Amino acid sequence: MFNVLAHLTEGKRNMATTTKTPSQAEAQNAAPYGQVQRLVSVPNRPTAHVVSVSGGKDSAVTLALAVARCPAGSVFPIFCDTGNEHPLVYQYLDYLEGRFGIKIARLSNDFAARIEAKRKFIARDQRIGRGPSGKKLRWTNKSKRRALEYLHPTGDQFLDLCLWKGRFPSRKAQFCTENLKKIPAVAFQMEKIDQGYNVISWQGVRRDESHNRRNAKKIERISERLYAFRPIVEWTAAQVFEYHAQNQIEPNPLYKMGMSRVGCLPCINVNKKELMQISERFPSEIDRVSSWERLVSLTAKRGGATMMCGPTEERNPNVIFSLYNIRKRVEWARTAKNWNQYEMFPRADTCSSAYGLCE
Ligand code: SF4
Repeated sequence: MFNVLAHLTEGKRNMATTTKTPSQAEAQNAAPYGQVQRLVSVPNRPTAHVVSVSGGKDSAVTLALAVARCPAGSVFPIFCDTGNEHPLVYQYLDYLEGRFGIKIARLSNDFAARIEAKRKFIARDQRIGRGPSGKKLRWTNKSKRRALEYLHPTGDQFLDLCLWKGRFPSRKAQFCTENLKKIPAVAFQMEKIDQGYNVISWQGVRRDESHNRRNAKKIERISERLYAFRPIVEWTAAQVFEYHAQNQIEPNPLYKMGMSRVGCLPCINVNKKELMQISERFPSEIDRVSSWERLVSLTAKRGGATMMCGPTEERNPNVIFSLYNIRKRVEWARTAKNWNQYEMFPRADTCSSAYGLCE
């Protein structure tokens, strides 16, 4: 068996070398490509190179590297569709498919059965007493009637997840990444393992993109038959764009429209400047979020649900809604003069996924 530990420490040795050109960085990666393949190579067991594609610059380069390095037919690109994507992301996926001559599997999660189970629960809820916060456990007749009228699957994964949960995800409860990205991706990888493959999960993660990812390893053993491989972990954003230019790969057009990241639009962790950009360039996306907020509020036990509520002392959901609904947030993003308040929320990374599933 190949020495796993030697490879897990390899990333640390390479951290000091961050000023290479893309071709130098790629050349340095040539050895790990061979190493990661040997790690999982077992006689009579094929390797599936599963590449997570988000529609962003990092995953586009990762896909390019996988296609260039791996045997034809062994690369399986996947895109976990959150249902909260800009239409240009889908167009860009079509472009990548044409550019690399490969099909990208579109994966999503389905919450219809869980919403149906929730409807049954609400209809039958007869609990008495109060929860730890002192609030009544049971749905009131008014909130029951309201929820049962509006709580139905819509077919949009992001919205259905929020309807099922009765709220939007937040920094503290970031269930979107887990449910919309990680679970479909892991299910795909497990299916490949069940089909007899060993799996290498290619992830477009870079250490310098966020605090959470600063210690990301280049090669990581997840389980006996599943390894993570992060070929651009030492690259900078500039190197990634340079690689695009050198290899005639168009970057996602959203970057030219002022977006610093590609993924959910808007992401729950959007910063002030990006929200302003989104509202000016894509006002229909703000209309969509506004209609989602109204619908989730109608089906939530306590009412008012907002997508971008920062930390607040306020406890009344209807007051929170009136202060922090998406239109109020956009108003604030456009008019606030204090640009020291650049982040809408306390600093954290845009998406906590360490799997390269969100950019
Ligand atoms: S991009 Fe943002 S909203 Fe989308 S899944 Fe990741 S954290 Fe959630």
